[in-house]
Amino acid sequence: MKNNILAVAVLAAAVAGCSAQTEPPKTAPQVAPPAPKIVEVVIDGVAGFQDTPMQPDGTWHVHDPARPQPPVVTPGSFSQMAPPPSDAIVLFDGSDLSHWLDKKSGGPALWTVENGVAVSAKGDIMTTNKFGDIQLHLEFREPSPGQGEGQGRGNSGIYFMGLYEIQILDCYINKTYADGATGGLYGQHPALANACRPPGEWQTYDIIFTAPRFGADGAMVLPAYVTVTLNGVVVQNHQAYRGATNWRSPGQYSAHDPELPLSLQYHNNSVSFRNIWVRPVPMVNEP
Ligand code: MG
Repeated sequence: MKNNILAVAVLAAAVAGCSAQTEPPKTAPQVAPPAPKIVEVVIDGVAGFQDTPMQPDGTWHVHDPARPQPPVVTPGSFSQMAPPPSDAIVLFDGSDLSHWLDKKSGGPALWTVENGVAVSAKGDIMTTNKFGDIQLHLEFREPSPGQGEGQGRGNSGIYFMGLYEIQILDCYINKTYADGATGGLYGQHPALANACRPPGEWQTYDIIFTAPRFGADGAMVLPAYVTVTLNGVVVQNHQAYRGATNWRSPGQYSAHDPELPLSLQYHNNSVSFRNIWVRPVPMVNEP
């Protein structure tokens, strides 16, 4: 959006420059053109956008409601919550959010903790620790009964390095644009399957994330990658991010530190979390 506004501003400056050659200078203040209107479209009951940029491969618009839905796969039965491995960095064991901060203020996390469960509220949270390449385990539970629809139903998300999202959404009998569904790299790559459990049931994410690498000149030399298992079903296999997650944009890279805090999204829905741990898993062969 910023680029569009910039383009309009540049165009206006160019027009003004041309007219200055043939007309006397004008003293009236320039009035900025109105911002382009965002138009939501609904296709087969799926709300999304087609006034967004095309994905770089030219197949679909960002958040395109016509993009095929991930096929539904019913996951196997849930095993009881397993304790973390012995070398894990435990980020939430049910007791408190001492390993987390409010992302906006840097102060204490504003989520609630009750009965061993953290519930999203008031703002995104980020870890006090910084991470690069990691294995992440996390369990989440969507509100039951489900409320809202599309992106408004049980929305949260895992942001690796605070930048690269794997979507959390209640996609059990709830359709949304494919690149915004559970297990997707939001705005970029839909999940290979919709392996969601019903609201009210615990669900597991096991994710391997590899941080992007940047050269000395700041250019990206290796993208971020994720392999994602949702409820025992692989829904992303070494999928590259096109850049940092963005609404209505396919994403782009900007150089950043090799380690940054992990964050969890608050998106106006109360999503529950438990048993969150990570293990650093550095890539062996650096580019
Ligand atoms: Mg989200």
